[in-house]
Amino acid sequence: MAAWQRPVQSLKGVGSTRAQALARLGIHTAADLLNHFPREHDDRSTLVPIAFLMPGHQQTFQGQIMDVRSSRPKRGMHLTKAVVGDGTGTVHAVWWNQPYRQQSLPIGKQVVMTGKVSKRGHQLQVDVPELEALGAPEHLSNRRIVPVYPLTTGVGQGIMRRAVYEALRCVKRVEDYLPSAIRERHGLVELHEAYQNIHFPSDMVSCEKARQRLAFDELYLMQVALQMARQAYTRRQTGIAHSPHGKTVNALLGALPFRLTQAQQRVIDECWTDMEDTRPMNRLIQGDVGSGKTVVAALAMGKAMDSGYQASLMVPTEILAEQHHENLRPLFTHAGICARLLTGHTGKKERQAIQSGLQSGEVDVLIGTHAVIQETVAFRALSLVVTDEQHRFGVRQRASLVEKGVCPDVLVMTATPIPRTLALTVYGDLDVSMIDQLPPGRKPVRTFWRTEERRPLVYKFVRDQVKQGRQAYVVCPLIFESEHLEVEAATEMAEKLKAGPLHDLSVGLLHGKLPSSDKEHMMRRFREGEVQVLVSTTVVEVGVDVANATVIVIEGADRFGLSQLHQLRGRVARSKYQAYCILIAQPKTAQANERLKAMETISDGFLLAEEDLRLRGPGELLGTRQHGLPPFKLVDFSKDVNLMQATRDEATRLLREDPQLNAPGHQHLNTRIMEVYGTSLGLLSLG
Ligand code: ADP
Ligand code: MG
Repeated sequence: MAAWQRPVQSLKGVGSTRAQALARLGIHTAADLLNHFPREHDDRSTLVPIAFLMPGHQQTFQGQIMDVRSSRPKRGMHLTKAVVGDGTGTVHAVWWNQPYRQQSLPIGKQVVMTGKVSKRGHQLQVDVPELEALGAPEHLSNRRIVPVYPLTTGVGQGIMRRAVYEALRCVKRVEDYLPSAIRERHGLVELHEAYQNIHFPSDMVSCEKARQRLAFDELYLMQVALQMARQAYTRRQTGIAHSPHGKTVNALLGALPFRLTQAQQRVIDECWTDMEDTRPMNRLIQGDVGSGKTVVAALAMGKAMDSGYQASLMVPTEILAEQHHENLRPLFTHAGICARLLTGHTGKKERQAIQSGLQSGEVDVLIGTHAVIQETVAFRALSLVVTDEQHRFGVRQRASLVEKGVCPDVLVMTATPIPRTLALTVYGDLDVSMIDQLPPGRKPVRTFWRTEERRPLVYKFVRDQVKQGRQAYVVCPLIFESEHLEVEAATEMAEKLKAGPLHDLSVGLLHGKLPSSDKEHMMRRFREGEVQVLVSTTVVEVGVDVANATVIVIEGADRFGLSQLHQLRGRVARSKYQAYCILIAQPKTAQANERLKAMETISDGFLLAEEDLRLRGPGELLGTRQHGLPPFKLVDFSKDVNLMQATRDEATRLLREDPQLNAPGHQHLNTRIMEVYGTSLGLLSLG
């Protein structure tokens, strides 16, 4: 056990009461304490002569206690006042309701204090200052750059600083786990120096150097852990080696009504190569809305059929499941693939038929929602699991699908692209393919942001488009965490439009609370052109595909994130006609303002993702994956973009040389990874 894994109680000045308080902050060991980083630093290195103290500022000064008095200015209130002088002037230091203060203020004692200065008449005063005796061996709260920590009841700044300071003594005896070659390549300071300077820096430059080193560690340890976990999964399990293409893939290719884009071709080749390997595939396909991910999935599934196996496609909504089933049908039929649809609303008889078909092997492909991961669903030979819009599924849900096959290949697809660097971090355990090209001839959706006053013009525009034979969506605002209110808003909007501005058009309503047969019916009527304007909640966000729709009006657009707006806009991006997206919004924040402007000017989903990252930081993006990893405390995604790639490369290099981290030089690294990731490793491998 490394020296810093000792319990906090064993540190000087930390008894069992304080240890219990620290435990509330998740601090149990000296190492935990050292990794409890200051939320900021306070520069108290300059001592100000008392005569020069400035009211309104927090300042540090030194002086002698000249007098101390206690009084009770009001019932139930106790005031301690000390007069402190340094030859240039005097200042009154005051504390309320701390009668014990008086004992630590012997007259004649030299002290250093820090606090907020104010003026009472002509007299300078400082309220509740932090105080240290001048003769103290180390000044932790004064006369230096002082760390300011997140705290809990029973542990004040002074105690926390002292405890961290004590813990720093242990780290002197800890071997740096980061191999020196890596430190040298990246100009990183040594472990002990890093901890020293992140807490008690001598200047802010060394503090930043310390942050860089420890931020590197955060990312590097995670990368090594993720890659080790994946390695363990792929090595332990022998996957299915699919055969070279046969008649199914060829039939699919022959039946495509278009040529694959270069990007699609590259990505499907990557998938096929993975599938032929015995190593199980664990691949993420990122592609902008409309980039044609579905056909790539279909071609991958075809390969499974050619090798005598089954495949499954899981999507987050019923509408999407039904649509995939519809859209793939002609292609699949042509290639002799039998695909069935399973959702929560599939009838009992149909369900039984599907189940026996899956077991006999008569059904090749199962398309569906969460229903496909139910226990009762069993395949004869499942070799490929595809999930669409994967960010909607948790790791566990995907895991249950994987368990239905004998180590099947896994393909996840997402239309919420994130910048490549970030993808490498978030999906460190997956190979990432990018479909970074749209099919030819796509016109970018023209996007306009309009305020309330111009609503009548917006409806006029919608009518004009419909008169030309096109169709429109009206999407109602996102109401945070209340599907009920969302449904209400959409219903109301549909009524209003029917009664007023769109009274002579056929207006339909779609939301998640409708019985599924009504949903299907409504989607069918919209697809067939019978409904001209579809008012809906955000249920259309994901993947809905009606080529004749050319306008999408998004209400309350300032409430949506960029990627969601882009998804919604993607609904009209698939037509040969010019398409339009109209954002109705009265933004309340500068950031919302910038988001709307970004939507007007940027049409590429990847660029938009970069912008989103810049505007909101990665918290949102990282949060989308319920991976249960420790949070990043020091990585700053606006500064550390290069670190993500660098740490991933270093991790790959390390594991290539020493896959199990057995080499004597890697023993400390191995220990540290187990300390940080030991419990979460098992889950990670499931991608
Ligand atoms: P997404 O990537 O958003 O899931 P889809 O797979 O739904 O996109 O494809 C969007 C539309 O583009 C579909 O109508 C599909 O048939 C069409 N499509 C896909 N690939 C091509 C291509 N290479 N050329 C022309 N159209 C294509
Ligand atoms: Mg799709």
